[in-house]
Amino acid sequence: MTASRFVVQPGPDDLPPTADVIVIGGGPAGTAAIWALHRLAPYLRLVLIEASDRLGAGSSLASLECYRTCWPAVCMAKQMERSVEVFHQADEYLGEGAGQALALREQGYLFCAMNEAHAATLRADVARLHELGLNHIEYLDADEVVYRFPWLGKSVIAAKYDPVAGWLDSNALIYRFAQSAGNARILLGVPDVSVCAGGGKVLGVQTPAGFIAAPAVVIAAGARSGAIARTAGVDLPIVVRPRQSFTTGWRHETFPGHAPMIIGAPPFPHVRPEAGSGAIFGWEYAWRAKGSLEPYRNDGGDALVEPVFPVEPLKDPRFPSITLALLARQFGHRAGEGFADGRYLRSLHHNIGYYVSRDGSAAYRILDDGQRQPYESERAIIDAHPALEGLFVSVAHVGHGIMTAPAAGEILASRVLGLPLPDPSFEDFSFNTAWVEYDAAVL
Ligand SMILES: Cc1cc2nc3c(=O)[nH]c(=O)nc-3n(C[C@H](O)[C@H](O)[C@H](O)COP(=O)(O)OP(=O)(O)OC[C@H]3O[C@@H](n4cnc5c(N)ncnc54)[C@H](O)[C@@H]3O)c2cc1C
Repeated sequence: MTASRFVVQPGPDDLPPTADVIVIGGGPAGTAAIWALHRLAPYLRLVLIEASDRLGAGSSLASLECYRTCWPAVCMAKQMERSVEVFHQADEYLGEGAGQALALREQGYLFCAMNEAHAATLRADVARLHELGLNHIEYLDADEVVYRFPWLGKSVIAAKYDPVAGWLDSNALIYRFAQSAGNARILLGVPDVSVCAGGGKVLGVQTPAGFIAAPAVVIAAGARSGAIARTAGVDLPIVVRPRQSFTTGWRHETFPGHAPMIIGAPPFPHVRPEAGSGAIFGWEYAWRAKGSLEPYRNDGGDALVEPVFPVEPLKDPRFPSITLALLARQFGHRAGEGFADGRYLRSLHHNIGYYVSRDGSAAYRILDDGQRQPYESERAIIDAHPALEGLFVSVAHVGHGIMTAPAAGEILASRVLGLPLPDPSFEDFSFNTAWVEYDAAVL
C-alpha cells in the first residue's frame, strides 16, 4: 500500500495544478470514492478536498456506526451484500490490519414486536427478504425470543433477526479508505471550494489556495452538497432531516455487552451496547416537524431544503429522556428497572447530524390519475449530473452511508470511469430513477 499524501490547510505550493478526479468531501462517501477509483484505475491522479482538519467530520460523527443486510429493495440489499463482503475481508480490500482497525462486532439486529399486528409485519418482512435470497434473516416466535435472549423480558412476542449485522469503527473505515487510495492527495482544512464550469463542462475546483484543473469532480459533501453544486450553477434534488443519538457511559446489568442492536416497535427507538460498559441510543424522531420548521426553509414536511449550520441548536434536550421512556414502556420496565433506570441519564453525550435524502422531485410514484406522489426514499444518488459534463455526485445516503460506503464508492467509480455498474440494480441510484419497489423509509 502506498501512503496517501495528507496536507492540512494547504498553501499554493501544496496544490497540484491538475488532477484527473477531484472529490469534495472526506466522509464515508468521498473516501470510499477515492478508494474505489484507485482500485479500478491506479493510474488516476486523485485529489480529495475536506473542509475540516480531519476526515469524517459530517454526519458520521453522530452515527450509531451500525450495519445490517436486511433491506427489502433489491438495489439496497445488493449494495449491503457487497459492502459486508468488504467489511468481512477488510485486510484484503483496505490493507493489512484493517480488520482489526474496523473492529467489527457482528452481534446482529433484533427487530422486536410487542403486538400481533407488528408481529405480522415482521413475518411479511422476513418472507420478502427470503424472496431476495436473504435466507439468513429469521422470524422468531415468542418462545424462541425468550430462549435466545432471556434478558429481554416478556413483552417481546416475536422478532425479526438479522445475524449478519452489527457495528464497526466508522472513523477507522474512513481513514482506511483514504490510506488505501494509492497516492491520492488528501487536502484537509479547505472549507471554501467552488466547482468551476464552462461550455457545459466541469473545469476544476477553486480553493482559497488556488485552482486545480480537472475534467471530473465528485461532490460527496453530505448535507453541504447542495450548496457546492450551486457554485457550478446546478441544483441537487435533496433535502435534509436532523437526526439525534446519544451515548451513555453506563449500561444496565440486564442489557449484556453481547446483545444485538435492539429495535423497538413503532416509532422504532433503538439501542445497542457501546464500548465496555455503555450504550448508544437512536430514534428517528422529528420533533421540529410536530410544529413548524420556521424560521428555516423547509419542504412543508419534516425536512429542510437548506441545512442549518451549526446543527447543534436543533437538538431537543428532551430527546434522551423521551427515548429511554419509550424503550422502558415498550419493554415493560417500571421505574428503576432496565431503560427506566435514571443512571442512564447521568453521563450521556447527545449527538445530532443530518440524514440527507432525495427530495420529492427525485422520489415519487405516479398515481392512477397521473399525479406524482412524493415518498421518502432510502436510495442514494450516485451518478453523473445530467446537466453538467464531468460532474458526479455521491449524496443522499440517508441513515446508512457508513454501512453502504464500499459499494457506493464502487458505483461512483464505475460512473466516473464509464464502466458497467457492478450490479444492474445499481441503476436505481441514478438521478432519473424516481420509484423502486420496496424502497421506503425503513429502519
Ligand atoms: C443520528 C445518526 C445515526 C446514524 N446511524 C448510522 C448507522 O448506524 N449506520 C450508517 O451506516 N449510517 C448511519 N447514519 C448515517 C451516516 O452517518 C450518513 O449516511 C453518512 O455519514 C453520509 O456520508 P457522507 O460522506 O455522504 O456525508 P458526511 O458523513 O456528512 O460527510 C461529509 C463530509 O464532507 C465534508 N464537507 C462538507 N462541506 C464541505 C466542503 N465545502 N468542502 C469540503 N468538504 C466538505 C464534511 O466536513 C464531512 O467530512 C447516521 C446518521 C445520524 C445523523
